[in-house]
Amino acid sequence: MSERPTRPVTVVTGGSRGIGAAITERLAADGHAVCFCYRTDADAADELVARLTAQGADVVATSADTTVDEDVDRLFETALKLGPLTGLVNNAGVTGGLATLVDTSPDTLRRVVEINVVGYLLCCRRAISLMSQGGTIVNVSSAAATLGSPGEYVHYAASKAAVDAMTIGLSKEVGAAGIRVNGVAPGVILTGIHAAGGDPDRAARLAPNIPLGRAGEPAEIAAAVSWLLSSESSYTTGATIRVAGGR
Ligand code: NAP
Repeated sequence: MSERPTRPVTVVTGGSRGIGAAITERLAADGHAVCFCYRTDADAADELVARLTAQGADVVATSADTTVDEDVDRLFETALKLGPLTGLVNNAGVTGGLATLVDTSPDTLRRVVEINVVGYLLCCRRAISLMSQGGTIVNVSSAAATLGSPGEYVHYAASKAAVDAMTIGLSKEVGAAGIRVNGVAPGVILTGIHAAGGDPDRAARLAPNIPLGRAGEPAEIAAAVSWLLSSESSYTTGATIRVAGGR
């Protein structure tokens, strides 16, 4: 039997900011070599790589749009320079602007589905093809998948429900190959995604209606991702863990 690599090598999509940056930081602290991608904000990516490298971590970043086939290929080629691939965290996602479906443009909803669903599928496809010795995939979903998000972004909620179906289906498809596929469904988390959607105060506005009384921190999502990528979760596959403060 061939030996498993001792150091996990993990790809994180959208790792430059928000939840993805917290995941990158946590996995680096856990001893993963991490290759993360971003789409536009090179300064945020460079700053994170510099900070983690100074702490002794093995972290690289590359600009790659997860909806573009060639970019996805380049992302994984970059990761393979760190060693055999053992993990993927599909995290790069967008909401589009907050609005009813009627007031959401076809271009916006297509772009949201393209990034949140097609991008995840392309990265899963590429990762699975490289995980000949087994591996672990974590798909960052959303509590929106079951809440439906009326009046805010039904198209986004629908895209995240597709992510949950992807997690279940792939876990069954690749379990025998030693690949586990799980998800984490965050609730309202303090990142720039709310401002990008047009409501910077969304987290503060919703906090009183969250059972735990507050929005979550990106590190609280990273903790669940870390567990799902670790051997501590060795019998867990096809699961999506809700980390949403009771929402
Ligand atoms: P964020 O702060 O807006 O960060 C998004 C990250 O994804 C950035 O690194 C961005 O890169 C990258 N990205 C966006 N589109 C991309 C693309 N096409 N290709 C490659 N990278 C791309 O978002 P977040 O709040 O951390 O959200 C991360 C994930 O958690 C998403 O899947 C989101 O749906 C999910 N989530 C978030 C919340 C929440 O309340 N924050 C709740 C539930 C689920 P650039 O910096 O270059 O733009």
